[in-house]
Amino acid sequence: GHNNLNAKLVLLGDMGAGKSSLVLRFVKGQFLEFQESTIGAAFFSQTLAVNDATVKFEIWDTAGQERYHSLAPMYYRGAAAAIIVYDITSIDSFARAKKWVLELQKQGNPNMVMALAGNKADLEDKKKVTVEEAHAYAEENGLFFMETSAKTAINVNDLFYEIGL
Ligand code: GDP
Ligand code: MG
Repeated sequence: GHNNLNAKLVLLGDMGAGKSSLVLRFVKGQFLEFQESTIGAAFFSQTLAVNDATVKFEIWDTAGQERYHSLAPMYYRGAAAAIIVYDITSIDSFARAKKWVLELQKQGNPNMVMALAGNKADLEDKKKVTVEEAHAYAEENGLFFMETSAKTAINVNDLFYEIGL
């Protein structure tokens, strides 16, 4: 049979981690070296065939700046899935990702699927957060984990598919 599902997905994480770039890569197959900062949040929709179902993702790409923090619950409330993004070259962005995970664990939908994405995997020589560290953290908290690169496209589709299954 054929099923049509709707899924609200939210991207959270530090400003500059690459949330908008991951969405742009996934939705349009593009990458911009000078991606503009998101103001408030941006909305995209993408329909995907997953097994024998059609899933319409409603993707909310949030800004990440602290001054927009109070708006975040509007975006993650009712979300089936969240992708929390950090930049593998920034310890601070990893700390910020952990704060988002904590907030979602406290305030988010308890059935929410969460994925942690260590983005900018192409910048291996500038890496500050090890795979081992991020993987261990993800495992402790029941999150999917992947290193991604919006620039090279590595693992980007896999990340979104993982969330949709
Ligand atoms: P956001 O604030 O989390 O939405 O981050 P953006 O998507 O705006 O990206 C911030 C900057 O990082 C931009 O200049 C992007 O071109 C760059 N960027 C994003 N993803 C990657 C990546 O995977 N690799 C590299 N090298 N740069 C990236
Ligand atoms: Mg953005």
